Amino acid sequence: MTHTPFSFELKLEFMKFEVLTIFPEVIGSYIKHGIIGRILSKGLAEVKIYNLRDFTSDKHKKVDDYPYGGGAGMLMQIEPFYNAIKHIKNDGNPRKVILLTPQGKKFNQQVAQEFLEKRAALLLICGRYEGIDERIKFFIDEEISIGDYVLSGGELPALVIIDSILRLIPEALGDELSAKEESFMGSFLDYPNYTRPEDFRGLKVPEILLRGDHKKIVLWRKKESLKKTFNRRPDLLKNLSKEDMKILKELCSEINIKILEGNNESVNN
Ligand code: SAM
Repeated sequence: MTHTPFSFELKLEFMKFEVLTIFPEVIGSYIKHGIIGRILSKGLAEVKIYNLRDFTSDKHKKVDDYPYGGGAGMLMQIEPFYNAIKHIKNDGNPRKVILLTPQGKKFNQQVAQEFLEKRAALLLICGRYEGIDERIKFFIDEEISIGDYVLSGGELPALVIIDSILRLIPEALGDELSAKEESFMGSFLDYPNYTRPEDFRGLKVPEILLRGDHKKIVLWRKKESLKKTFNRRPDLLKNLSKEDMKILKELCSEINIKILEGNNESVNN
């Protein structure tokens, strides 16, 4: 079995997700709403949910047991996962079997985009308790983590992955530009946004957004977005265009001037 993360060719018509979990209702309830609900009801993608308990041979539908060698908590047994994956794969369709685990490769916007571009079919395996019997690794294609923290189960990570991929579908946000302008889509964080009222307890919407000069608004947004990224996530500022570099230089000299002014004030005081 190869473990080369994210290098694969699965060309499908649309995104297809399958989720294997002991809490199908958690997934089912989230995907009914908002953008994701709309995409699914339009048939632009598919999410199929499997209850792991349907694949256990235990009459009480038990899926966990004590860990060999002792230790805290319970572990999920390998057999129900094996049975479920075998059953799901029986249709012969290509899919990537992904184990959700804090020990996996880190998920981000770029990975979401890669999955969407490939129109991948993903089978997302959700663990619970202290995790799954290590032998699960023989039945999966890769391991994904959504971040360096430990959650109680794989359902939230599965939803994070489904949501972040599906909102990239051009039809998802109604306006193709919306997704393109979001944080992490380019090298920048999103620019600041405002809606009514114009003045909230003295907190005013920036004048420039009210004047209707579209060119100036675009430039202002670009500048604000660069400023935010420079201040909060300078690590994202890569492969900047000449125009972006020019704006960034202007920003740096503005910041320098402010620092110099601040220093002068404190010297004079
Ligand atoms: N004992 C495991 C460890 O330290 O690596 C953690 C198990 S966690 C309590 C239970 C399940 O939640 C995992 O099997 C996994 O499916 C899911 N999970 C928790 N945190 C996650 C994360 N950051 N990314 C992806 N899945 C996660």
